[in-house]
Amino acid sequence: MTQRRAVIVGAGIGGLASAIALEQAGWRVALLERGDRLRDDGTALLVQANAMRALRALGLGLAIDAIAQPFDSGVLRRPDGKPLIRSVTPEPVDRTEPQSVVFHRGDLLEALVSALGDRVEIHTGVTVTNVDLVHPAAGDNTRRWPADLVVGADGINSAVRTGIDPHATVTGTGTVAFRAVIPPHRVPRLPDDGGETHGANGQRFRYAPLSERGAYWTAVVRGGQRPEPADVRHRLLAEWFRGWHDPIPKLINATRPEEIRQEQLSYLHPLPRRYTQVAADGGAVLVGDAAHAMAPDLGLGAGLALEDGVTLGICLTHASIPDGLGEYEHLRRGRTVRLAKTARRMAALLGSRGKLGTTMRDGLLRAMPEGWLSRGAGAAAVSDWHPPSPSR
Ligand SMILES: Cc1cc2nc3c(=O)[nH]c(=O)nc-3n(C[C@H](O)[C@H](O)[C@H](O)COP(=O)(O)OP(=O)(O)OC[C@H]3O[C@@H](n4cnc5c(N)ncnc54)[C@H](O)[C@@H]3O)c2cc1C
Repeated sequence: MTQRRAVIVGAGIGGLASAIALEQAGWRVALLERGDRLRDDGTALLVQANAMRALRALGLGLAIDAIAQPFDSGVLRRPDGKPLIRSVTPEPVDRTEPQSVVFHRGDLLEALVSALGDRVEIHTGVTVTNVDLVHPAAGDNTRRWPADLVVGADGINSAVRTGIDPHATVTGTGTVAFRAVIPPHRVPRLPDDGGETHGANGQRFRYAPLSERGAYWTAVVRGGQRPEPADVRHRLLAEWFRGWHDPIPKLINATRPEEIRQEQLSYLHPLPRRYTQVAADGGAVLVGDAAHAMAPDLGLGAGLALEDGVTLGICLTHASIPDGLGEYEHLRRGRTVRLAKTARRMAALLGSRGKLGTTMRDGLLRAMPEGWLSRGAGAAAVSDWHPPSPSR
């Protein structure tokens, strides 16, 4: 078989994982990224055992052990510090494997980039505007990269997805997230585990120790992005979370205004009806947020993007493009549709408003079995994923 070529649009976690996996499957890859460099947004990611298995399948075991900070998500609390439910993390099935870890996003991107071989070319500063799904190719107004396969790894506002299914819709959660990583010398004394605290009107705060990178926190509040200057936004955050239990106000106070990043939260609903498209000359496929961006309450997105990349490589090692894409669709759609539904329900529950809504939310959370939050719902267990074996 002549060497097959893929053009991947977007060099986030999904694009990099797909590039590594396809290269390992014998493909040549062109990776197109609109940023001038890969996007380290100075934040962190909480992921679960499924993400660690995907990273190991990509051959990143040692590199990952060096940068992953095991994380016990511990107790879910109310602002006064009283527990809502005891444990967010399930009992580990395999006690040698941490159930949750935190990565600094920059460290994870660097580890992924260092696993790319010389059959992957990276082109930064290329904003893909032209995607051809009939004679597969992608490019901008000056260059075109023809290929056997176009991989849409271009995030929630994917340009590639538009050609595969224009009906998928970006839907706002009505909330905005503020996030920061603060360096170790400014981190206040933290309990050993991380924590997550839920207030009225959908306000929530989560933090995690991040070893020599310091500590990570994220705060979610209702409304849109704040137009005020950074120092005013910082003061607003301090005000909104005043009176919340330790170490929340201390973490906010220890953060410099310019370290805080804000993002409007959104997800795809409905999801695209298919993630793949076959053409006479090849095909196209969606991975990561381009296929199934979810509300981030369950911290699923990065792990699922890694799973997608690994699965794509396995499906396209020996199989023809139509067979491999058929297998990918079969392996990825059911799981991600179920998890997207769980994430939507969770976002609705955690965003409950008013006294009555908050009381109902607290009652429902208390009634959940321990570990349910990170296990997701029954068959759609988040961390139960293992790399598939090639079927053809
Ligand atoms: C506030 C917040 C907190 C989160 N917390 C977590 C968490 O704790 N754990 C977790 O697992 N997930 C979390 N997520 C979700 C996670 O960040 C995403 O699911 C994950 O980054 C998806 O990766 P991706 O590669 O699919 O997309 P992206 O990270 O969006 O990458 C897409 C890439 O494509 C590039 N691109 C886009 N359009 C073009 C174009 N036209 N041409 C060229 N390049 C293009 C972009 O520049 C970008 O580099 C969080 C998300 C948010 C918003």
